[in-house]
Formats: sequence, structure tokens, C-alpha cells
Amino acid sequence: MNLSPSSLNLLLTCPFAYKLKYIDRVQPKFNINTIAGSAFHFALSKYFKTNRYDFESSWKEYRNYNPEVLSLSFNEEDKIKNNLFAMLKIYEPFARDLKVISSEEPFNIDINDIGFKGIVDAITEDSIIDFKTTNRIPSDITSSHIIQTSIYSILTGIDKVELHYISEKRVVIYKTQVSSEMKEKTLMLIENVKDILENKIFLPNGLVHPYACKYCSVSNFCYFVNGIS
Ligand code: SF4
Repeated sequence: MNLSPSSLNLLLTCPFAYKLKYIDRVQPKFNINTIAGSAFHFALSKYFKTNRYDFESSWKEYRNYNPEVLSLSFNEEDKIKNNLFAMLKIYEPFARDLKVISSEEPFNIDINDIGFKGIVDAITEDSIIDFKTTNRIPSDITSSHIIQTSIYSILTGIDKVELHYISEKRVVIYKTQVSSEMKEKTLMLIENVKDILENKIFLPNGLVHPYACKYCSVSNFCYFVNGIS
């Protein structure tokens, strides 16, 4: 059994969406913001390694590593670049302020017999930094991001976490300290999801979640939501 913080979040939000994406492996819907977000992480990681904050060259390099981008239309690519470059521009002073000692660090660990894999965006001397590119910056850290930060904290042994929410127009930074209680609750959640995976009962819980179906990347394969629309 393997999970990442994002697949765990999907499993908690809607087990059926998890099944479609990670077991059936359907092709998620094309999403400009997802590609721009992924390219943003790539550009930041490159900056932390080279100290060069260069929008164009990091986009060109990202394109070469991601063949699906090569099949985009001119307009689609233009939209992605505009979104990406706006986020990189607004985040530049914050990036230059960070004293990053490690970036895009892969991890792999067993928690309650589930293999967890993922990548920590950046680590400074005393904090984990997680970048969240988004169109809508939340008014506080979301519960799914609290679970994600707890997993990072369990993995790295670092309790201070900063979530940097970045849109085209603004940057909001939330700082939190992951408590022992949060870590214990996260371990309990992981224990519960083991039951879902072992018993293979993937309910369409997204239907009762305020926004899950609206933003679901695999909703075009979901006969539950298609049946009620
Ligand atoms: S559309 Fe809604 S119910 Fe269907 S898989 Fe996505 S989140 Fe789940």
C-alpha cells in the first residue's frame, strides 16, 4: 500500500475519486493551473539550486521534461506562461528572502504499514516550506493542508511549517507549529484509510463535500456525479 500526502487528501475527500485517479488511472482533466503550479515548483527549485531567478529559461527546461506540454495549443501555452510568470514575479522577493538548505527533497517512509512517498518543497534551518499555487487564497490553513503538514513534520522531525499561498495577485504566508496532538490525529486518520484500501470500499463522498465535485479532476469519469447532474 502506497500513498502520498496528496493521494491521502483525495482519499479522505472522495474515495471514489481516489480510485479513479490512482487505481483505474484515468487521465485527469487538462488544467492550466495545475501545469502552471507544477512549473512554478520546478522554477523555484531551480532558483534555490542555481540562484538564478529566470522565468523564460526555467519554463523552457520544464517544457522539455514534460512532453504533454509540447502538445498544447499556442493559446493554452500562452495562458499557462502568463499565469506562471505572474506568480513567479509576485513571489520573487519572498523567494530571495528564504534561506533554503534543501529543496524538492523526496521522501519515502512507512507509517502504519503504508508506504508514504512525496516531495518536500523546501527546508530552511528551522522550517518546512510548502508552496501552494492557487486562484483563491484561503482565509486560513485548510484542514487538508494541516494533515499534509503533519505528515511532513512526522517525516522530517521539523515542527515549524510555513504554507506559502501564491496567486497571480498576492502572496499569503501562514506559519504553524505542528503539535504532538496533530501528529497523533494524523496517524489515526492514516489507520482509518487503511480500512478503505484493504476493504476496497470507495464511496463517492465528494457528493456531500461543498466543492469537491466542482474541482474534481476526474469528474468526467464519475457516473455518480454525472447521474445527478
Ligand atoms: S465528481 Fe465528486 S463524487 Fe465523483 S469522483 Fe469527483 S469528487 Fe467524487
